[in-house]
Amino acid sequence: MYYSFFEIFSIGVGPSSSHTVGPMRAAKRYVDNLHEKGLFDGTEKINVTIYGSLALTGFGHGTVKAIVYGLMGLVADAINPEMPYVNSVDRDKILHLAQEKPIEFDLEKNIIMRKDIFLPEHSNGMKFEAYDKDGKLLLEEIYFSVGGGTIARQDEVHRRVGREPLKVPHDFNSAKELLEICEKENKDISDIILENECALMPYEEVKAGIFKIRDVMQNSIDRGMKASGILPGGLNLPRKAKDIYERLEEKFKSNDYDPLLMIDWLNLWGFAVAEENAAGGQVVTAPTMGSAGVIPSVLRYYERFAAPKSPYTVEEGVIKLLLTASGIGSLYRSNASISGAEVGCQGEIGVACSMAAGALAAVMGGNNKQAENAAEIAMEHNLGLTCDPIAGLVQAPCIERNAMGAVKAVNSARIALKGTGNNIISLDSVIKTMLNTGMDMNNKYKETSLGGLAVNVATC
Ligand code: SF4
Repeated sequence: MYYSFFEIFSIGVGPSSSHTVGPMRAAKRYVDNLHEKGLFDGTEKINVTIYGSLALTGFGHGTVKAIVYGLMGLVADAINPEMPYVNSVDRDKILHLAQEKPIEFDLEKNIIMRKDIFLPEHSNGMKFEAYDKDGKLLLEEIYFSVGGGTIARQDEVHRRVGREPLKVPHDFNSAKELLEICEKENKDISDIILENECALMPYEEVKAGIFKIRDVMQNSIDRGMKASGILPGGLNLPRKAKDIYERLEEKFKSNDYDPLLMIDWLNLWGFAVAEENAAGGQVVTAPTMGSAGVIPSVLRYYERFAAPKSPYTVEEGVIKLLLTASGIGSLYRSNASISGAEVGCQGEIGVACSMAAGALAAVMGGNNKQAENAAEIAMEHNLGLTCDPIAGLVQAPCIERNAMGAVKAVNSARIALKGTGNNIISLDSVIKTMLNTGMDMNNKYKETSLGGLAVNVATC
């Protein structure tokens, strides 16, 4: 199944696409359904039960806040970061449903955490129940946040996305099929993705949308490089990007030659975005918020340093890089998972690294097979990466992992560009292996904070 560029990349607020953006969308969709079914006016009480991974790490990942936003009818783009929405609900015990109807709402009583129950369909489950004034149940719906901010209602979860297949000219289901289409049409991966996107909306809108995503990525780097202080959540982690930036500037001014300086820049940009995400700032799901720093870091590396060696103008390169990354991301979403709660961090940082590597190889003049090979190499060396955020916060090990993912992506692209694109391991095999590894992985290592670093690092 083809996933659109705007499903792979969307603008959101941190810190987690599956634990923040997905629950916000589910709550909003549930309230919209109350409206559609004529039940909204009669609703006097709402209960939300959160299950499994969402309940275990939901506090640190902002799930409660996100559900309140969604019940208030807010979407990520419309949230005013200055407004104390959740504090008001907590203080007054009143929630304005869809910003229209005030109902009594106690965050501690009406949002129920069931850390002990994992629903069979997916570990990120949420049940919404609306009651009338007599306590009669009006509507019950169960949703799952299946990764990258995508949600599916219980009756839709078998197809892993809450929609019908998109009507596009090139509906590929594997990297092999995508490469065959490219060969038959004599086009690059990015051309094929662009043709698909232009079947969904006019070219000018696609182009404007790509540059909007690019701008939000770049702005999140710039904000992250300027911000200082302690990240929220209680781990007391200081932000590091600003300090790294100032040291790099000093080195530059003093002509202090360092042959590995480029690694510091990639690290800096990865840190900057991941810290913005951890602080609840605006970032792009790429393909998730936990892994939001990898592709922006590689994109900036391309724009600032690599573009002169690329056969494309910077503008062409930006479009090509992001479209190629989207095509690779679509393969992971349709054949595996991009949810840390389902397959561990290999599905977040691993996929971001793979998308960035393939995309960088493409803009540096690689052919389609070299781009596919770069994406494969990058995932091959992320296989088995577990998700074990300390204290349930998207901070450690997440922030450094974004930097590591960016550096590994550049190296993967360079390895692939030195070869012919022919490789014993295909991208399809590595995607299948990632899924199999994720399915075999114990739940302790899937965004539950019950294993790994989350239990072996003292937090006080
Ligand atoms: S460890 Fe990886 S998958 Fe888990 S929250 Fe952090 S970035 Fe996301």
